[in-house]
Amino acid sequence: MGNAKQLNEISWQEFKDLPLAEKGEYFQAPTYHTLIAQQFSRIQLEEICALATKIRRISKQRDGANFLRTLLSDKRAMLYFAQPSSRTYLSHNAACQILGLDTMDVRDSKTSSEVKGESPEDTVRTFSSYVDMIIMRHPVGGFAERVAWMLSNTNRPIPVLNAGSGADQHPTQALLDIYTLERSFEDIGGIDGKSIAFVGDLLRGRTVRSLAWLLTLYKKVKVYFVAPEQLQIGEDVLELLDAAGMEYETTQDFASVMPKADALYMTRIQDEWDADGESTTIDTSAFSIDAEHLDRLKKTAIIMHPLPRRKEISISVDSDPRAIFWRQVRNGMWVRAALILMTFGRQDEVNTYDAESNPN
Ligand code: ASP
Repeated sequence: MGNAKQLNEISWQEFKDLPLAEKGEYFQAPTYHTLIAQQFSRIQLEEICALATKIRRISKQRDGANFLRTLLSDKRAMLYFAQPSSRTYLSHNAACQILGLDTMDVRDSKTSSEVKGESPEDTVRTFSSYVDMIIMRHPVGGFAERVAWMLSNTNRPIPVLNAGSGADQHPTQALLDIYTLERSFEDIGGIDGKSIAFVGDLLRGRTVRSLAWLLTLYKKVKVYFVAPEQLQIGEDVLELLDAAGMEYETTQDFASVMPKADALYMTRIQDEWDADGESTTIDTSAFSIDAEHLDRLKKTAIIMHPLPRRKEISISVDSDPRAIFWRQVRNGMWVRAALILMTFGRQDEVNTYDAESNPN
């Protein structure tokens, strides 16, 4: 990656206007940013998943957990969450703790000098002075990219990890979803050749937008986008999938998709993006699952959800072994730990430790 392009070699406007597929080249060594799903290759996904598994395995033993805690004990991270979050915040915080990375946080920009008229860019630049990495969630799409570009053009560039931006991207959720799919399909040929159904508010669900792209990196995956017409997946996503040659269908007929799917990816209505309560006028009742639907699913199918859920998955489904959304949450912590470790290029120490403690 020695010849990777750098964010201080391009103007913000030029960078902003680049097609998504070309942006990722700017997020490589020496400063690794995690900003968009389109920056990942399949090899990188496989590396992250394998590392997450090793971290998970090592952490089971006290010695292993202690070893992991030394890996980033010389680093500090800022969790800057300017949008409501508890699970993603805690998940990143837990991932940092696993690696011994100290964290500090700002969870409400109203408590920062932004109220004194400071620009959001200056606020983040100030925070960046105290830490070695910024993990951020922000309501404005593209703001994490802007911060990464801005910091890369200072004398102290540090990595930026996007923990959810606007309604456009949620790359770490997409990574944990891939890890969950991979673990679930381990004995049945992996993700290649599988059918994944996204259900619910696909227009404004950033997790769907990011995961749909990552699935293009697998062979012969078929995707169903199941949503009411007003909440159907955006044309911009479909154009990207077309360019990648992915097979997909858009439909409102959830019942016909249920028996075909290897994974159901349920989502809630994202009404925080409503301008005027328009979601309340849409009948979403057909885009939910309860115990009486379970017979229609494949025996090997899995039911996923990025959470928080509302009524789209009845709690009567939770006891079915195919309901894996709680495991999905835990997977997030391991994947984020793997990603953060790779951000600092320290993964080899885990690979060596794992090889020594699990000799074949
Ligand atoms: N937790 C996910 C997100 O932050 C999904 C959701 O909020 O519905 O996008």
